[in-house]
Amino acid sequence: MGWRIGLAAMLVIWWSPVATMAGSLTLEGTLTQGGLVIGKTDPGARVSIDGSPVRVSPDGQFLIGFGRDAKPEARLRISHPGGGLTEKTLKVSKRQYKVQRINGLPPGKVTPHPEDLIRIRGDNAKIGQVRRQDTDRADFSSGFRWPAAGPISGVYGSQRILNGKPKNPHNGVDVAAPLGAPVVAPADGRVVLAQKDMFYTGKTVMIDHGHGLTSVYAHMDKINVTQGQHITKGAAIGTIGKTGRVTGPHLHWGVTLFGTHLDPALLAGGVEKMPSR
Ligand SMILES: [Zn+2]
Repeated sequence: MGWRIGLAAMLVIWWSPVATMAGSLTLEGTLTQGGLVIGKTDPGARVSIDGSPVRVSPDGQFLIGFGRDAKPEARLRISHPGGGLTEKTLKVSKRQYKVQRINGLPPGKVTPHPEDLIRIRGDNAKIGQVRRQDTDRADFSSGFRWPAAGPISGVYGSQRILNGKPKNPHNGVDVAAPLGAPVVAPADGRVVLAQKDMFYTGKTVMIDHGHGLTSVYAHMDKINVTQGQHITKGAAIGTIGKTGRVTGPHLHWGVTLFGTHLDPALLAGGVEKMPSR
């Protein structure tokens, strides 16, 4: 009897290493704070990050995002359709963030008047609703490019001090392109918000790239797209402006995976990949 139990235990030991090699996995992107990783595994696999399930496309693609203050490790777990299991610890590198002081903003845009708070709450509700969507299209697989070209006037993650008051970290990248310069879609997607007059972001467009990945374009002068429209990478969505909370014309470009703000510059391959003006 004792011998049979022993054999059963041995079989488990022998079989498990074979099972762990049963599935495929590739990871593309930057394992750093603010980075996005596009994973590819077997169609039908189930994927989780730190115990939370993530959407897997029919062809096996999935997204992992690391926020500004992401922990140094994330645990990736994949159950393959053949019964195999892949478990991997992802090492997430730490970044240093700048402090940026901006002065000369209208005081009412830094400490809003009570009557503006209702409008701000309404804007935030619309933006929040977009960022909760989990659509099944994998438009992000088109890859990302810069939506505008110009000097970078604000980087991701910097601690902001506006008119001398400490505020939330900057959650995107600012491109100081001239007024009227084109803004294009950095990737395939669907326009899920096109608003003429938001309190902080002025004329604002948001694009859904699928699986919870959305992007925002703020302070625009003109908007050339409408809500619900499907757009391809490089399509004109509007022009650079100075609407909302600004000191001059620029594009604020933000990318989020659900509520997690990512660094758009990393997705576009860094400043060196920006097209010449
Ligand atoms: Zn900005």
